[in-house]
Amino acid sequence: MIPVVMPTYARVDVAFERGEGAWLWTTDGRRYLDFGAGVAVTNLGHCHPKLVAALQDQAAKLWHTSNLYRVPGQEKVAAKLVANTFADTVFFCNSGAEANECAIKMARKYHYDSGDKNRTEIICATGAFHGRTLATIAAGGQEKHLKGFDPQMPGFVHVPYGNLNALRDAISEKTAAILVEPVQGEGGIVPGDPDYLKRLRAAADEFGLLLIFDEVQTGMGRTGALFAHQGMGVAPDIMPVAKGLGGGFPVGACLATEKAAKGMVAGAHGSTFGGNPLAMAVAETVLDVMLEPGFMDAVKAKAAKLRQGLDAIAARHGAVIEQVRGLGLMIGLKARIPNTELQARLLANGLLTVGAGDNVVRLLPPLIIGDAEIAEALAIIDRTCQEVTP
Ligand SMILES: *Cc1c(COP(=O)(O)O)cnc(C)c1O
Repeated sequence: MIPVVMPTYARVDVAFERGEGAWLWTTDGRRYLDFGAGVAVTNLGHCHPKLVAALQDQAAKLWHTSNLYRVPGQEKVAAKLVANTFADTVFFCNSGAEANECAIKMARKYHYDSGDKNRTEIICATGAFHGRTLATIAAGGQEKHLKGFDPQMPGFVHVPYGNLNALRDAISEKTAAILVEPVQGEGGIVPGDPDYLKRLRAAADEFGLLLIFDEVQTGMGRTGALFAHQGMGVAPDIMPVAKGLGGGFPVGACLATEKAAKGMVAGAHGSTFGGNPLAMAVAETVLDVMLEPGFMDAVKAKAAKLRQGLDAIAARHGAVIEQVRGLGLMIGLKARIPNTELQARLLANGLLTVGAGDNVVRLLPPLIIGDAEIAEALAIIDRTCQEVTP
């Protein structure tokens, strides 16, 4: 008999009841160190006191009014995002896939309104992930996500990630935009070379295309900058954001320059829930915490410490870990044994991780991780590698 919760996930048989900072407790009282952060979402840890207060305060005032009216929280969050990025304007939605949908629609509308009605195609990268809606599985281009859901949405072409020549060769009179992740997440933590991303910018400018950086996973401090591209010296025209933006409260956003968003007039796009007062109260507080002086420096310091420890472990356990890669606190361990097996053993030893493509185990600790917790995680990983050494 089908479970009452539709069985679309291969869930681990553990359920959590309570969280605090980098720790989670199960319903039967076991404690886990959370190096998954709900897939790069709880970037400020579980139950951050400022986020709890912001949500509780807003919950007692007003939950939802719809976008038929002004939402002051949206104006505040958008102003903060605009003040701290390349962007001039922000659309609010509820998830990463929706933020990408907005980006795709915006890119097509830009060319339509410019009189280039045939410019509808978006060049994406192999190994990409942009969400699970019909448009975003077509953008991701992964067979495992597309199979069985034909007809596939047209308008997306794929070139190998990191290959500039292949990308330039794919540009035609039909091309509207380039869409890539600055660091591929689900694909296996594959950092884009800053020079490659800069050359994408140059190609976009040369051919009049829009450059879209999907920062749903890389954004909100994950890589040691508020957004990953800011640490790479290159800016997009459009940027979908979600995951860490609400610290666990569902919210997404699509940021854009005034030029890229010129077609996004009244009636062009919408969302019932997008940017509702609860989501905005939390997102504003997340931004306030992350924009405090010294916050990103602390993230970079923690990342360096974790990375150093992981490199040492990889050097000791070459039979288990082939490579450590990533940026900031978005780290991948490319495993030599099945990543699912390594994850299961890490879980048994009290450490939560997330799988990814290319046989990678993702380490995505909360950005507020402490030195003692980093040391504990490293000790668990070291011990686990020892246990699984063939
Ligand atoms: C998670 C993710 C998405 C999809 O986000 P949802 O909130 O699950 O729709 C899109 N792009 C990237 C890069 C992601 O990591």
